[in-house]
Amino acid sequence: MAQHQPQTRSSASCTSGGKPQDSGALTREDFDGGPVSIDEIETGLFLGNLTAATHMETLRSFKITHILTLDSVPLPQHILEASFLTTKYIQIADMPREDILQHLEGCVDFISTALAQKGNVLVHCYFGVSRSSSTVIAYMMKHHNLDFLPAYELVKAKRRFVQPNAGFVSQLKLFRRMGCKIDPSYQRYKIHRLRLAGEQMRKAKILPQSFHSVVRPDPDITRENPEPIVFRCRRCRRVLASKSHVLEHKPRDRPPQETAQPAPVTAPKEETSVQAQSENQSGPRMLEQLAERIRQSSLGSPGHESAPNHCRSILFVEPIAWMHRIMLNTQGRLYCPKCEQKLGNFSWINACKCPCGETMTPAFYLIPSKVELSKAVQNVQTTV
Ligand SMILES: [Zn+2]
Ligand SMILES: [Zn+2]
Repeated sequence: MAQHQPQTRSSASCTSGGKPQDSGALTREDFDGGPVSIDEIETGLFLGNLTAATHMETLRSFKITHILTLDSVPLPQHILEASFLTTKYIQIADMPREDILQHLEGCVDFISTALAQKGNVLVHCYFGVSRSSSTVIAYMMKHHNLDFLPAYELVKAKRRFVQPNAGFVSQLKLFRRMGCKIDPSYQRYKIHRLRLAGEQMRKAKILPQSFHSVVRPDPDITRENPEPIVFRCRRCRRVLASKSHVLEHKPRDRPPQETAQPAPVTAPKEETSVQAQSENQSGPRMLEQLAERIRQSSLGSPGHESAPNHCRSILFVEPIAWMHRIMLNTQGRLYCPKCEQKLGNFSWINACKCPCGETMTPAFYLIPSKVELSKAVQNVQTTV
């Protein structure tokens, strides 16, 4: 069907969509919504701008029954109260750092329900370029089992203005990787949430209630479904983190088999250790060396079979409840809550760099030489 073309000013938002630094400059006051712009992406699913969503004639002529609004303000009252419409409003700005991911499941469900009822659903934002198109792409990924790019191309083929901002693109890809739903245990999702929390800490200097869930329960206190593999304080053996709290990364600058690193690893090299065993028949010393080798092996030092791809120069972890004052300070040191040994550092706002070159922001890390990994049997024996 013939569409009105958004005016030149409207297409300026296309450009801004791809350039995060510009998008903040465009505000509602600078532009009007332009003429009605609406495209049918697939049967019953329409994507358009604010003008389309507030234009009664357009809504009636396209037989729109459902409107999904992603904008900084809701639709005018007379639209919200129209008897033939079911509406859903998501308050969100077109900024790469906005968390669109948390809304995608609900939005996809809204579209699915509307279409299942043989309704016609209009998904819109201000220009129909970034926020609303991201939502429609999410729907296409889920319902046609598509990766981001083919879903994007399908939508783009029906509406040439489609241009999710860079932050939304990466969130859409994450949504797809999680199986088009939120998987709270998925590492990249944890990092996504931590980054959002870091933004809040940067602004407010205190962690808002809505982000308290990024701080994980203390594994030394939580007794429900304890994980079999934990990291303990090497000095006092207090449980500090479960294996699932570790945010794994791959060594960045070196191939995994190279072990030379500035991190405080105290173990002798493999060959030295083996040599010492054959030369030194002293039982206790041999046992000590063996224990050290096992410890290093279980920590997954590069080159060991337990975690061949994971860097262990630094142990990035999620924030955990024993970490003192992390909700009130933007950065600081981490001390063992039992013996007060210094274990590492944290920063909500600055990048922390692993000796391998990988950076993490926010970062909460434990120094591997200060902790040791222990398995279930030891857990039962030594805890409490
Ligand atoms: Zn300790
Ligand atoms: Zn590393």
